[in-house]
Amino acid sequence: MKTAVITGASRGIGAATARAFSKAGYNVVINYNKSEKEAFALCKELENAVCVKADVSTEEGARLLISEAARVFGGVDVLVNNAGEALCKMVSDTSLSEWKRLFAVNVESTFLCSKFASEYMVRQKSGRIINVSSMWGVKGASVEAAYSASKAAVIGFTKALARELGPSGITVSAVAPGVIDTDMNAHLSDADKRALCDETPLCRIGTPEEVAAAILWLASDAASFVTAQVLGVDGGFI
Ligand code: NAP
Repeated sequence: MKTAVITGASRGIGAATARAFSKAGYNVVINYNKSEKEAFALCKELENAVCVKADVSTEEGARLLISEAARVFGGVDVLVNNAGEALCKMVSDTSLSEWKRLFAVNVESTFLCSKFASEYMVRQKSGRIINVSSMWGVKGASVEAAYSASKAAVIGFTKALARELGPSGITVSAVAPGVIDTDMNAHLSDADKRALCDETPLCRIGTPEEVAAAILWLASDAASFVTAQVLGVDGGFI
């Protein structure tokens, strides 16, 4: 049985991804940081799941998560770097500490978890790493420069790591979701949501399950010759 580690799986896209992998027959490691109640409830709901509290923006947290996955299930076959935070601020109002915090949560977590998980994957000469970027990392969002830059960094990291790990039989790709109905967008007004829907060819906001399905596909045998790609899951927005 293969093991999938999903960072930030207590809520939103991460929780939907944990459900999708569990349903597909994987052992699932549900990582959370603050939302313990949600993570425990999800863990109870799923078969072959454990939850691990770890702040993956720190080296100790990322190391603990991957070593716990290996201790409980014997290794890591799939890593989904999903944990993330947003920041809606003009550059002129963004402090250096806010910028650094966003890069720690969105980029350094991706680097650290990939670094530790790839040790197991290289040894077994197989593995899948799927990073959750954003369409704003491709296009750039107004009033979200720090977030857009962090998600663009995730794309650069994905493409470079795919080259580095390809010879070891490991694929590395990213998804770039559009506007998805999760807590991250709870601050949007109805008018903001309508405007975003108007710009989307499919005329609606996406669901966490739709992003999870794309991630599951990238981890599947059907995607065995797919690496270094950024798969838009954005209703055609980009
Ligand atoms: P969400 O509902 O706010 O969930 C964020 C998740 O990340 C939570 O489970 C949270 O866990 C976890 N997390 C945050 N910081 C963490 C840390 N330091 N260590 C471990 N876990 C941490 O957001 P979402 O919309 O599902 O977003 C998931 C990913 O998709 C993010 O990378 C986001 O940038 C990306 N994305 C979202 C959208 C969208 O429209 N929603 C679009 C494009 C990309 P705790 O609550 O347990 O701390």
